[in-house]
Amino acid sequence: MAFELPQLPYAYDALEPHIDAKTMEIHYSKHHNGYTTKLNGALEGSGMESDTIESILENLDMDNAALRNNGGGYYNHSLFWEVMGPNGGGTPLSTLAQAIDAAYGSFESFKSAFSNAAANQFGSGWAWLCVQKGGKVEVCSSANQDNPLMPGIGCGGTPILGIDIWEHAYYLNYQNRRPDYINAFFNVINWEKVSELYEQNK
Ligand code: MN
Repeated sequence: MAFELPQLPYAYDALEPHIDAKTMEIHYSKHHNGYTTKLNGALEGSGMESDTIESILENLDMDNAALRNNGGGYYNHSLFWEVMGPNGGGTPLSTLAQAIDAAYGSFESFKSAFSNAAANQFGSGWAWLCVQKGGKVEVCSSANQDNPLMPGIGCGGTPILGIDIWEHAYYLNYQNRRPDYINAFFNVINWEKVSELYEQNK
């Protein structure tokens, strides 16, 4: 069973003006599609073809560059599309809001921590909000297509929110202004979905 490019849950222009349609189209149909194809190539003959992507990443041989880069790229983008939406923005719901307050004091402090992690990740990568077993949340970042499911990466736990900070995610609209893109991302976060992921993985 080969991995398939997941359906984008909204139209390319649904996140405008925060994320433009052209960026979405290239990002989804070229970049994510490319990671998906190369992930299937990297899995061929490995014996892991029927494993879940989570299991593949959790048990990853970090020296396997093809699987690390493309398995990460497949998973990270699949999560990224889900945690954004046309009716996004606002703040997290109930128990996730409480966990964020417990870890960071307030939503605004969490927003600063997450934004700083994204802004300060040198070069390409991702910033994450993860949940650990027991419900504690933590912000971290990782390079390239790594993510916290992989051995020894970031804060551990399960990512429930991620922002892609590769230039391909924002350069058409924001050029070098990564902080503006990070700020705009908060207007498209689907907190309902993030809260659901929190409940499922806490
Ligand atoms: Mn990307």
